[in-house]
Amino acid sequence: MQTLRGDFARTRGRQGGIDDVVYSQQLHHLALRGSDVFAHLVAAAAAVLTLGRLYPSGAPILWAGALLAVLTLRSGLQDRYRRAGVTPNGSRGWGRWFIAGALATGVLWSLVASVFVITDNLGYQVVALALIGGMSILGIARNAASTSMMVAFVAPMIGVTTAALLAHPSSVHVSIVLILGAFGLVLVTAGRSLQQSVHADLRLTLELVKTGATLATAHGGSRAGSWEVNATGRTFWSDEMFEILGVERSASEPSVERLLEKTHRSDREVVAAAIRAWLSCEAGLAVEHRVVAPDGGTRWIYQFGLMQRDATGRPLRHTAIVQDITERKQSEARLQFANVVMKTQMEASEDGILIVSGDRQLFSYNEHFAALFNFPPHILNGGDIDALIAHVASTVRNPQELLELIKHIDTSPGEDGQDETELLDGRIVNWYTVTLRSPDGANLGRAWFLRDVTEQKRALERAMETSRQDQLTGLLNRGAFVQILRDTIARASAGETNFAVLYLDLDNFKDVNDALGHPAGDELLGAVADRLRASTRSCDTAARFGGDEFAVIADNLIDPEEASRRAARLIEALSEPYQVAGVPVRTSSSIGIALYEPGVSDAETLLSRADLALYSAKNQGRAAYRPFTEAMDSEVRTRLALGSDLHQAIGEGELFLLYQPQIDIASERIVGVEALVRWRHPVRGVLPPAQFIPVAEQTGVIGKLGQWILAEACRQARAWRDAGAPPVRVSVNVSSLQFKTALAFEADIVAALADNGLSADSLELELTETVLMNAYREHADLLLRLRELGLTIAIDDFGTGYSSLDYLRRFPVDRIKIAHDFVRDLETASGDAAIVKATIGLARELKIDVLAEGVERRPQLELLETWGCREVQGYYFARPLPPGEITALLCRPAATPRSEVCRSSIGPPRPQRETRSPSRLSESLLAAAHAPEPWMS
Ligand code: C2E
Ligand code: MG
Ligand code: MG
Repeated sequence: MQTLRGDFARTRGRQGGIDDVVYSQQLHHLALRGSDVFAHLVAAAAAVLTLGRLYPSGAPILWAGALLAVLTLRSGLQDRYRRAGVTPNGSRGWGRWFIAGALATGVLWSLVASVFVITDNLGYQVVALALIGGMSILGIARNAASTSMMVAFVAPMIGVTTAALLAHPSSVHVSIVLILGAFGLVLVTAGRSLQQSVHADLRLTLELVKTGATLATAHGGSRAGSWEVNATGRTFWSDEMFEILGVERSASEPSVERLLEKTHRSDREVVAAAIRAWLSCEAGLAVEHRVVAPDGGTRWIYQFGLMQRDATGRPLRHTAIVQDITERKQSEARLQFANVVMKTQMEASEDGILIVSGDRQLFSYNEHFAALFNFPPHILNGGDIDALIAHVASTVRNPQELLELIKHIDTSPGEDGQDETELLDGRIVNWYTVTLRSPDGANLGRAWFLRDVTEQKRALERAMETSRQDQLTGLLNRGAFVQILRDTIARASAGETNFAVLYLDLDNFKDVNDALGHPAGDELLGAVADRLRASTRSCDTAARFGGDEFAVIADNLIDPEEASRRAARLIEALSEPYQVAGVPVRTSSSIGIALYEPGVSDAETLLSRADLALYSAKNQGRAAYRPFTEAMDSEVRTRLALGSDLHQAIGEGELFLLYQPQIDIASERIVGVEALVRWRHPVRGVLPPAQFIPVAEQTGVIGKLGQWILAEACRQARAWRDAGAPPVRVSVNVSSLQFKTALAFEADIVAALADNGLSADSLELELTETVLMNAYREHADLLLRLRELGLTIAIDDFGTGYSSLDYLRRFPVDRIKIAHDFVRDLETASGDAAIVKATIGLARELKIDVLAEGVERRPQLELLETWGCREVQGYYFARPLPPGEITALLCRPAATPRSEVCRSSIGPPRPQRETRSPSRLSESLLAAAHAPEPWMS
């Protein structure tokens, strides 16, 4: 476009904004080029030389200086114009200065021409005409972009010269004026045709500008250029074209082939075909492709082709606007990348995503969204938001709610929202919607994020349920129970109900666990829970607190006694035998009752009352229930205080042992004594072991207590011997906890025997079945060592714990002590009798001695004797006695010589007699039996 010419003044006036662009472009092309200045200077030098002959006065130098100054100013003006980065608006001011420059130059040259022409020297006149002609043509050609510029430059030359000639009229001058006139006409004609061409160019330019293709071109300095092929087939490239393609102007002639050479190899074929079709007028040209820069880099260009035809419609020239669109392409690539990233992110998201533009167009969605609502493809492809909403609404359980919401969100673009919706198929969808805003806050649309949370919800519900449940039994857990208890208290305080809390635990659960193992213990707890469910009413609440502790809210009580009646029924129901791990198991339970009272407002108080009552019930014996009383509180406190007192009691000598004789039935001789501990409490009097052995176990005093008992029993055995009594077996009860410190326990036994010079067979250890089994499991080596020493081991309370008979075979004990429980009703309870008989038979088979405990009546004794039981212990013969009385019994002179009594008491049992009349020993024993324990008095 370097040859754009035209009357920018007129164009500017007509076309407004676009013309401003064209105008500024025209100005840019009105440059006074180096070659022009050179031409001016050569001509000026010639003129000055010639003028020098006419005016030696120095006027020519002055003129030349003026011309030089004007040219310098114009060049400076141009430089400033270029540097200023002119806007279309600013161009107008510059235009006026350009015209002034052209006018000044024209006036200066007209002065020279006038001086020469009026010399009447033919040579000078020819020079003047040549000067006028040359300069005028140069002016028309160079300033063709502007009529004003042409006129400003050419008019002074012709006008001033003509005026000078006419001022000195002569025939020659008139001829010259005529020549000048003719020349002026030629200039006008040439100017007009040039102007037509410029107008065509302008139209072309305007057209291009309107397409937007060359908007950037107009701003000078932008990366846009053009090339054209005219009717003669010549190709022209604009300067920018060379720049864009990175080709030196001097390096080669512009041509289509050269352009294709620079085109990227992959695009070349397509571009060549497009240009061919355009040049042969078969198609327009609009092609984007890559060109390769000299440094090997790739740039993108856009070529847009226009065609100019003559009046007959023949193509005059093809002009292609070439725009460097690398940056746009890069932005597009970035945009495309961002799009791909966004799409990938959307697809990677767990959420279903829907994006709706501000004008309610479906902008984007992901597969999760499509799958969530099972969209038929036509709805999403169609992009109809209303159809989409209708489909979503048809899948949700409460469409009205959803429609309301969408309407609301639709009309409130600023609102974000979040909620949960249930679908018809039961799935639960959590959704979140947010307005999309541009940085300046304009509403761009809305995004919806939807997530199927059905699984989480269900898991949560399960967890909630689980968190309320006891995993083992399926009953409620403590937390849930307390919650219900609070509600029940609230109802009771409103007078709507009356209730009690029953707190219960199993009396011998630990034994079951220890004997049969934890899985069996768990099975028993499950079975107990089932019984509890079956034995409570639907309005009641049953829970397991952990271990073997259970609680029940006995609701809707008619009267306070009903709580006790129901506790009794529960105890009865729970005491029925269970089948656990394939074996029948009996267990009893104790229950503490806390009745609701109007003053009690919190659950914890009621629970701790029930707990206290349970504690008290347990101390009362097995299978008992007790309602809470205010006295219990202090009772428990006192019991706990016992723990600390006990520690001192051992050192203070408050503990003592009683000894209960063990009798050989046949000979009625004392074969052994069982040491039974008592505590003479300074405040509470003499306490039985049941009141302090558990406390000793809880507080860890049992080790010290056990040590003392062993030492005391052995000391007493020694004392009896020293008193002349025959040796007698001393049985000592052993707590399970004493085995926890097995080595110390063993050392205590050895020391007790050694200190008193006793042989090991003087001592028998009584262990319950469970204690023995655990001791054997964990400390078999200790037990075996003790037996090797010569100690005997008896199973205490046989039949009440849980032992496997197989174990009896593996660890041969010396004696089985049949529990008092089975002997108590021996004459009347056939079941008990059967058990006792079977135990005696078993012991005989296994060659284990057997002793029946708790014999209180003669018929019991006789039955036991009949069944083959050889030893007994019980009130029938003697209560636990102080050591002095035992000494007396052991050494009492009898019908037989004392030494014989003493001897016979350890000798083999005599054969059974048909009838029995009390011997002197048994008379004494019977007397001891009917006397109360010494501390009772
Ligand atoms: P146990 O070892 O089974 O002791 C027998 C218990 O039955 C004794 O109660 C005894 O007084 C009682 N008894 C004996 N004959 C009869 C009878 O004909 N009828 C009735 N109703 N009872 C009878 P005690 O002395 O109160 O001892 C209870 C339990 O305390 C003992 O049961 C034993 O397990 C434990 N115990 C007693 N002394 C000690 C001890 O020194 N150390 C340990 N660790 N525990 C002991
Ligand atoms: Mg015992
Ligand atoms: Mg016993």
